[in-house]
This record gives sequence, C-alpha cells and structure tokens, in this order.
Amino acid sequence: MILLETEALTRAYGGVIAVNKVDFQVESGLITGLIGPNGAGKTTLFNNVTGLDVPSAGKVFFNQKNITGFPAHTICRMGIARTFQNIRLFKELTVVENVMIGRHFKTGKSETKGRFLNAVNSYIHLKAEEEQIYERACDWLDFFEMGSMKNELAKNLPYGRQRELEIARALATDPKLLFLDEPAAGMNPQETDHLMATIRKIRDLGITVVLIEHDMKLVMNICDSITVLNYGQKLAQGTPREIKHNPSVIEAYLGKE
Ligand code: ATP
Repeated sequence: MILLETEALTRAYGGVIAVNKVDFQVESGLITGLIGPNGAGKTTLFNNVTGLDVPSAGKVFFNQKNITGFPAHTICRMGIARTFQNIRLFKELTVVENVMIGRHFKTGKSETKGRFLNAVNSYIHLKAEEEQIYERACDWLDFFEMGSMKNELAKNLPYGRQRELEIARALATDPKLLFLDEPAAGMNPQETDHLMATIRKIRDLGITVVLIEHDMKLVMNICDSITVLNYGQKLAQGTPREIKHNPSVIEAYLGKE
C-alpha cells in the first residue's frame, strides 16, 4: 500500500527549479532511501511534503488524502514526523525533556513559525498530561537503550546519541511515517552501525521510514526501495540492487566501484 505519494511535485526558487515534476512513492511499512548528488533537491522534497515549504506545483497525498500546502503542525498531527540535517536539540534540557517536547509538538498549539518556541511554551503550561508524557518518553528512551541517560543534559551526550535522541523526539509524536534527513551525517562507523540497527527496529514497529543519506553502505544495507534525484528530477527508483547497477545512477552519483 502506498502511504505517501507526490504527483509532479515542483518547487522553484526564482530561476532555480529545486524539485522538478517529481513522482515519489513511499510504500507502507518499508524503509525508502532518497539519494542523489548535493543540490539534487532531496531536502527540498522533504520540506515540501512535511509542510515546511509550499510546492510551486504538483500534489502530495498521505493515506490518499491531498495534504498539499498543509502547515507543518497539521501534517505532524496527521502522523508525519521528521528530523533535520543539522542537530536541533534543546541542549540545556535533559534527554527525557527533549523527548517530552516532541510530544508537545503534536499536542501543543504550535504554528509553523516559531514552532520550537511554541512547543516549549506548551511544555511549560500543559502540566496535566505530564506524567503520562514522561512515562511515554521513558519508554522511547528504553527503546533507544538510552534509559540510563535520561537525566543527562542533551549537550553531554556523545554525538551519535544526540542524533538518535532527535529521532526519539520525532517518534514521540507517534508518527506513521518518519522522515530522516541525513541521520548518519558526522557519525563514526560504530555509531552508523548502531543507527542502522535502530532504524530497522523502528521499521519493525510498523513505522514507515524515508531517509536521505550519502552513506551508501547504510542506504544499500537497510533500504527496501531507493529513489534517486538528480538536478531536481527523478532519475531512478528501485531496489538497492537495481539502483547499484543502474548505469545512469552510476554516472550521475555512485561512480564506478
Ligand atoms: P544536499 O545533499 O547537499 O543536502 P539536496 O539534494 O538536499 O542537497 P536541496 O537542499 O534540496 O538539495 O537544494 C536543491 C537546490 O535548491 C539547490 O540548488 C539549492 O541551492 C536550491 N535551494 C534550496 N532551498 C532554497 C531556497 N530557500 N532558496 C533558493 N534556493 C534554494
């Protein structure tokens, strides 16, 4: 079953067409990779399906519902979560507080603009559900094997754990679909291996995952399906094996081994 789909999705910034008539499909329950050279339009596609940006043309469907142009907080409440290329933790808050704030992205009255600040205000003012939210956040930390770190300040975690904490925070919104933007960026090989296992565990919970990644070992190992973008256009879509041997993908991005 297709969970998310774009139809001729296009985003132009002046003369630059960052995403050009892209048809992108995400099958439910799988891990889908989105790869391509720098500037190919991957993050722009993420931004346009998660409500951080509004497409110039084309459509986005989630669960067959047209969500084109919906604001980010509405899309989050519908069950789509994401992480960002650069770390965006509340470094002076504890690990568990960071995950709890994720829940407030879903329940708080946050708007796209100032979303983070509104989420923090929501965290401060909505005390009633706190206990339940705390327990749920602890469950997620146990899932990430980070339970013993819950009272540490986020800034004191090792880099790889900070990146995983961002994923935990996104999962606290209870998404059906999780977008990860370069989750392994800056990780060492051990941290990347840990992340791979974690992403598989997330998929095994029944959560559909889409990830942008330049680490081809990770992409080829964990993705069920891969879409390749190049100059804003879809160059190919297939299994890791098909993509690895696709001559156009080799020429545009992968290079010869
Ligand atoms: P990377 O792998 O380097 O993260 P990417 O595939 O995610 O690259 P995008 O960040 O989506 O690529 O950028 C696609 C193109 O759109 C680039 O040429 C970029 O400069 C341009 N672009 C992206 N956002 C904007 C913006 N807000 N205003 C103008 N141009 C933009």
